[in-house]
Amino acid sequence: MNPELPKLLDVQVKDGRVAEIVAHQRAIDAEMAVFDAARDRIQAEIAQASRTAEEIGRRRDEAAAKLEKQRILHEGRRQRLEQERNPRVAAQLMADVDLGRSILAQEESDWLRLADDANTRATSVAAAKERLAALLTEQESARADHALKRAEIDALLAAARSEREGAASLLERSLRIRYDRLRNSRQVDVLVMAQNAICTACFTSIPSSRISTLNAEGVLIEGCEMCGAIIYLPEVLV
Ligand SMILES: [Zn+2]
Repeated sequence: MNPELPKLLDVQVKDGRVAEIVAHQRAIDAEMAVFDAARDRIQAEIAQASRTAEEIGRRRDEAAAKLEKQRILHEGRRQRLEQERNPRVAAQLMADVDLGRSILAQEESDWLRLADDANTRATSVAAAKERLAALLTEQESARADHALKRAEIDALLAAARSEREGAASLLERSLRIRYDRLRNSRQVDVLVMAQNAICTACFTSIPSSRISTLNAEGVLIEGCEMCGAIIYLPEVLV
């Protein structure tokens, strides 16, 4: 039997273990992604609502400044009217004061509408922030659990990877390079069994010229002609 065969099989078992742990890690991360998505949705909502609230607040402040200016103008006209003795000028000032009063009323109502709107928007931002806080409280224990589980899995994975590297380092160098290349390019195992002189990965017959090597070595390192898998005979291992 080729002495590399048990070592190859050992590396493959350890690769399988690493893959299992990685799959587990992905699964618990996917669970957490659901929690993250719920949190991100509310955060996006808060950001959007805050932008709108700020914009409305800005417009409200502009309207307030405009209103204040209009009030001062109006007050000035009113005082001039009180002091005016010339009836013709007074009549003109009276008309200006009336017009100013209606402009003032319009601007006051604009400002009130914006102030109301700004209040409503600020309330909805505050409500969304409360919902976020509630959600984060609700998620707290799940997040803590996940962090614990993740740390455990990370440690397992690091250990499994180092065991795998240890096993791989025992392989003859060119064989290791070949194994790794196959491992990275294949969805299925690198080492597959031969059954009735057939590759069990792709079900191609092993040519008769290679059967004697397979029987003698227990393994066809050069691999299946069709799919490249390293083929071995399980019988030689017992
Ligand atoms: Zn094959």
